[in-house]
Amino acid sequence: MRRAHRVLDGAAPDLATILDEIATDVGPSVGRGRAAQQVPALAKRPTDRFGIAIQTVAGERHSAGDSAESFSIQSISKLFTLTLALQLEGEALWSRIGRRPTDGSFNSLAVLEQYGGKPVNPFVNAGALVLVDVIMGHLPDADEQVLELVRSLSGNSAIDYDIELARSERELSHRNTALAHLLVDNGRLHRGVEEVLESYFLYCSIEMSCADLAQACQYLAQGGRNPLTEEAILTSSLSKRTNAVLLTSGVYADAGDFAYRVGIPAKSGIGGGIAAIMPGAWCAAVWSPALNESGNSIAGTHALELLTTKTGSSVF
Ligand code: GLN
Repeated sequence: MRRAHRVLDGAAPDLATILDEIATDVGPSVGRGRAAQQVPALAKRPTDRFGIAIQTVAGERHSAGDSAESFSIQSISKLFTLTLALQLEGEALWSRIGRRPTDGSFNSLAVLEQYGGKPVNPFVNAGALVLVDVIMGHLPDADEQVLELVRSLSGNSAIDYDIELARSERELSHRNTALAHLLVDNGRLHRGVEEVLESYFLYCSIEMSCADLAQACQYLAQGGRNPLTEEAILTSSLSKRTNAVLLTSGVYADAGDFAYRVGIPAKSGIGGGIAAIMPGAWCAAVWSPALNESGNSIAGTHALELLTTKTGSSVF
């Protein structure tokens, strides 16, 4: 017998109820896993949080749990730096960064070495370091421009870097420093290692809430257009292609399992956040700090699986 799915058709109470149900259902998963260890300041933060927010392309917004609490977006910043780099270079960007799925950890030196020093995709750390290098090559005020993009996409001018957190990560960044040196050795970075790393950590330190992120990713659900400003952030082709890269590498080595369980493009970060896009319909963001081995939020992934299942949503 075929199971009927509840479909998002603008029936507001239904969606609100679904989010409340999810916040209850994920309860046993919250705190399961481990907070990020790479960043000392993150390792000390509590793991008993869960937030979820959704925003439809029609402008309907719902949230549950700790959806208004700001957290460190970490690698979700790679989505915004990729967007800026695509604005600046278009398809030419792919001569410097690949589009292979992530095999191994997001900060693997072995994988970078294996592919001749060319990052496999923009969402592993090596790829994001090249994105920073690209942006810096075009924009003398890159740090302001990245923040400006995130603020204008989210409609929240209070979003900022957490400079202390960036500094704490910088102090223990042996692996990212090694990746940067390996990139230089292969002729893949044009700026200095110190300069690139400093901005990379700054971008990882951006603090946003689930509600901010559900708004900020709208352009990827709306053919590249920021609904707040009517500005074309990306062409519809590049927006579609960014979603393709998210689907194949947005959650690192879990991409296959995530596509199977959740079924839509998403970007995660070791702060425990995940931003997910259902093109043409909605964006959702979840946050819960405890992570699995790949660095993805366990409760967050569970919540998105419930969301797409309960709403019958999938890009497949
Ligand atoms: N700042 C983190 C790092 O460079 C980001 C990693 C992540 O969120 N996956 O290790």
